Amino acid sequence: MIRFHLKCDQNHEFESWFQSGDAFDKLVAAGMVSCTLCGSTQISKSIMAPAVSTSSEITAPKPAEKAIAELRDKVEANSDYVGNGFAKEARDMHEGTVPERPIYGEANLKEAKKLVDDGIPVVPLPFMPRKKAN
Ligand SMILES: [Zn+2]
Repeated sequence: MIRFHLKCDQNHEFESWFQSGDAFDKLVAAGMVSCTLCGSTQISKSIMAPAVSTSSEITAPKPAEKAIAELRDKVEANSDYVGNGFAKEARDMHEGTVPERPIYGEANLKEAKKLVDDGIPVVPLPFMPRKKAN
């Protein structure tokens, strides 16, 4: 597939995908390509800058997703997953009834807010923990 940057006789610019350069020429000659704004079929290629669609381009994670995945790996490698018991564990550690250790898990908004209100250091993670079988 090739993407062409197109322009109509009213100078409207738009982009469209075509099977090939030949296919584009044939479609335009047949009046099958029309401006997305005014419907004109007087279309020309504005810039010859074809972009090729590849599967690796589509599946490669975006930088933000990659950073989140790395953070998740780091958290999972260095902390204990306590699931829904997170709020209780965090509180018990804060009160000294259990030894402190790095943990992560799930807390609902109310629990998380209560922890913060009580001065217990918790950090929201930008991902949902993967469930671990115990
Ligand atoms: Zn137009």
